Amino acid sequence: MEISTPEEMEQHLAAVGVALTAPEPAEGVLCYAERMLTGFGCDGTLRWARRWRDLRVPRATGQERRLGSRGGHCDCEVFLNGWTLREDLWVDDEDGAPTWPAERPPCAGVGPRSSQPCGNGRPWRRDRW
Ligand SMILES: [Zn+2]
Ligand SMILES: [Zn+2]
Repeated sequence: MEISTPEEMEQHLAAVGVALTAPEPAEGVLCYAERMLTGFGCDGTLRWARRWRDLRVPRATGQERRLGSRGGHCDCEVFLNGWTLREDLWVDDEDGAPTWPAERPPCAGVGPRSSQPCGNGRPWRRDRW
């Protein structure tokens, strides 16, 4: 696309933004939200979880409540309070302390109508999702 006007630039950037923030075909909500947080940060809401839901499983309206029930009232709290990466995927940092790998493992994948997180994540507390 030839960009010659500010309007065209704006359209171009909007299109790039949509492409950058699209979930991968089988990407689960947690991998997606974490990827978006890394690139774009948290705005104090569940905007990434909500965006994933709207694009993937718009009828999974209970998702925000489920996230909130584990203390995830915004996207970063989902990871602070709710879910983490399975321990066997962690790596040691330079001080030997276990941490998430800088290069996140690829999403283990979820079904097209599943609002569940993929197998890479687990709740901080083990009960139900
Ligand atoms: Zn947050
Ligand atoms: Zn995943």
